[in-house]
Amino acid sequence: LQSEELGLRAPQWVRDKMVTMCMRCQEPFNALMRRRHHCRACGYVVCARCSDYRAELKYDDNRPNRVCLDCYMFLTGNALPEDKEDKRRGILEKGAAAGSKQSLMCSFLQLLGDKWGKSGSRGWCVIPQDDPLVLYVYAAPQDMRAHTSIPLLGYQVTAGPQADPRVFQLQQSGQLYAFKAETEELKDRWVKAMERAASGWSPGGPNDRDLSD
Ligand SMILES: [Zn+2]
Ligand SMILES: [Zn+2]
Repeated sequence: LQSEELGLRAPQWVRDKMVTMCMRCQEPFNALMRRRHHCRACGYVVCARCSDYRAELKYDDNRPNRVCLDCYMFLTGNALPEDKEDKRRGILEKGAAAGSKQSLMCSFLQLLGDKWGKSGSRGWCVIPQDDPLVLYVYAAPQDMRAHTSIPLLGYQVTAGPQADPRVFQLQQSGQLYAFKAETEELKDRWVKAMERAASGWSPGGPNDRDLSD
């Protein structure tokens, strides 16, 4: 929804399953303490604290509805004290959605091995253009905060020990990360991108080369 349309039309709700963190404060959801709520104005999935606001929505006959903080401020014109704003910044905050537009490489990869806790889970992996030596792993492309960041400098990139040609690994002094791409072609692109990062390459830098070589 465009911001002019907030409250005028019912939003399309972002599906719960697409989001693992509050889309406003980026705190992870869990079953007990932090549950998912939908903002009735923008349709974002947000936590209780970030949706503890009511605003009258035109599309619902001006009845007060649960909305997120951003929509509350937009719809009512009421601002909130600044200290509440400051809490909304995180260390690993680097929007994955923004990252996919400005990334050297991004796709889903299967995360293999117990390094990731749950073997076989999928991660949305991004090497951002403005941070080209780091791999960020998000639970979902909509997430605002990565759950893992791996500085790639110095890592060795190898095809995995498995017979599967879609598997590859990052290895450095006892650290081992294994990934599986959906296709062999995608794996090749990731291996190239990671090898560049591991060697300290950055776009526009002295070793800049065409990415498609
Ligand atoms: Zn929140
Ligand atoms: Zn909202």
